[in-house]
Amino acid sequence: MHSGKVVIIGSGFVGTSIAYAMLIRGICTEVILIDVQRVKAEGEAMDLSHGLPFIRPVAIRAGGYEDCRDAEVIIITAGANQKPGETRLDLTQKNAAILRSILEQIARYTQEAILLIVSNPVDVLTSVAREYPGFVPERVIGSGTVLDTARFRYILSRRCGINPASIHAYVVGEHGDSEVPLFSSASVAGSPLSALCRECGAACDLDWRQQVIQEVKGAAYEIIERKGATYYGIGLATTQILRAILRDEQTVLTVSGWLDDRYADLGVAMSVPCVIGRGGIIRRLDMPMDQEEKELFLNSSATLRESLRCALI
Ligand code: NAD
Repeated sequence: MHSGKVVIIGSGFVGTSIAYAMLIRGICTEVILIDVQRVKAEGEAMDLSHGLPFIRPVAIRAGGYEDCRDAEVIIITAGANQKPGETRLDLTQKNAAILRSILEQIARYTQEAILLIVSNPVDVLTSVAREYPGFVPERVIGSGTVLDTARFRYILSRRCGINPASIHAYVVGEHGDSEVPLFSSASVAGSPLSALCRECGAACDLDWRQQVIQEVKGAAYEIIERKGATYYGIGLATTQILRAILRDEQTVLTVSGWLDDRYADLGVAMSVPCVIGRGGIIRRLDMPMDQEEKELFLNSSATLRESLRCALI
């Protein structure tokens, strides 16, 4: 189904930021907003549609689950968001129940569309959706650490004075406290970051690396502390995933998906660099990690398995 039609379930901060970024980037033909608060979805669709004279033609309106029938991608952002001091895993049971009720409604109309899960805890919810009967595993994707990877590159870019788009560095594992920013494979123009540090003499030592890791991991908490929620960054990150799917780009992105045998079947969805195209996750790539990173990655999977166990109770 190459309809270019995208359904967004949840018209809160995140759902509408995704819609806004998508419209501006002109990557879809139709956008439908669904929310339990139907009136809110209608208001958001009206507001967004008043910008149509300034962008590429696209149809946008509020709708219902019957609109999923011919959707190419269904993005799920519905659910409670993280409150100050609350971890993403605290949200688990609440949002798992909401997700199941949404999947039940979607499944009445389609099991063909790609499901792109953004609600938190995103890896656990991606695992829950993957277990739900009928949906094809490769077509169930979580936004994973695409945003965390962007934060990592941004933080490195400020230090290195290099455009974040020219920095190759990835965050793998959970989208959350146990995520693993990979320094050992971070590179610029084919050179490991460590070689660049020697060259510029900025003394990017172990302490500095720990600070960067803490900054990446703490980014959402810092934003939530100041403004209550995060949404612009995830709006753009999700749009990048969406574009890779709709345009069959084969772009490498650290989305969350079920890991295959190469990762010893970790029993939970989590992020590694994946090639993304029209079929969803086309393939997963091997990620070089040093011994410490490998251990942290396995610890992250253990954290997520425990959380998934809670979600399945
Ligand atoms: P929000 O409260 O602004 O919006 C949530 C929306 O979901 C509300 O409009 C609500 O009415 C709707 N909703 C609730 N239950 C529903 C249901 N059963 N069916 C349809 N709609 C329903 O929250 P937000 O700030 O937009 O955050 C949404 C989710 O995105 C949260 O789980 C948050 O943690 C997550 N998030 C993820 C990332 C990421 O990187 N993956 C980043 C930021 C936020």
